Amino acid sequence: MNLVFLGAPGAGKGTQGSLLAERIGAHKLATGDLLREAVRVGSELGRRAKSYMDAGELVPDALILDLVRHTLAGAERDGSAIFDGFPRTVPQAESLNAMLRELGSPLDAVVVIDVPEETIVQRMSGRRTCANCGRIYNLHTDPPTRSDVCDVCGGRLSQRADDREETVRHRLSVYREATEPLIAFYEMGDAPVHRVDGDRAVEQVQAQVLQRLER
Ligand code: AMP
Repeated sequence: MNLVFLGAPGAGKGTQGSLLAERIGAHKLATGDLLREAVRVGSELGRRAKSYMDAGELVPDALILDLVRHTLAGAERDGSAIFDGFPRTVPQAESLNAMLRELGSPLDAVVVIDVPEETIVQRMSGRRTCANCGRIYNLHTDPPTRSDVCDVCGGRLSQRADDREETVRHRLSVYREATEPLIAFYEMGDAPVHRVDGDRAVEQVQAQVLQRLER
């Protein structure tokens, strides 16, 4: 089974994709995570992608497609795949269709997670991550006891450069322009497009995802 999760940055694609991947034993391919890892280890890809990411711009299609091709080639071919944060442009979606055709396993469904923009700004600008253990907090909805210290391990909490409010607003405008048109693109294709209300608790959103996919 191949699934694409679509939605604005901060809509919960990563959280929902991970929960579903665990449930159905799928491999999750999240280009944002792969890029952040490339930046962390200082690879050539990371060096080329970093300035785009920090500014909230899309990394050029050619770099992303190389990364995805490389990752798919190394992944187990027989498993299910959940694509999170990819594709983000129509050319990326066309390339994904071609890659999946080549692998002989076309896309089965697209899940669109809808969340109002102001909710997203609040979610993302309040997000803090522990540099030591990776625990993620939200200053508004899931705050640590002290705003800059991890409750679990005492590590330092920091904000991702691209989670600053003005960058989040820019990322939302990039989403509207480059990525939202993918919903219409997929609605014209063969795989069903399921829309879920992402402005709910994590478990409720997951329940909607499962219900739509089971249909
Ligand atoms: P994410 O964690 O998915 O929000 O991705 C973080 C950043 O990585 C984005 O703001 C982009 O700069 C970059 N990025 C991730 N996936 C893609 C993609 N499919 N196409 C272009 N840029 C991407």
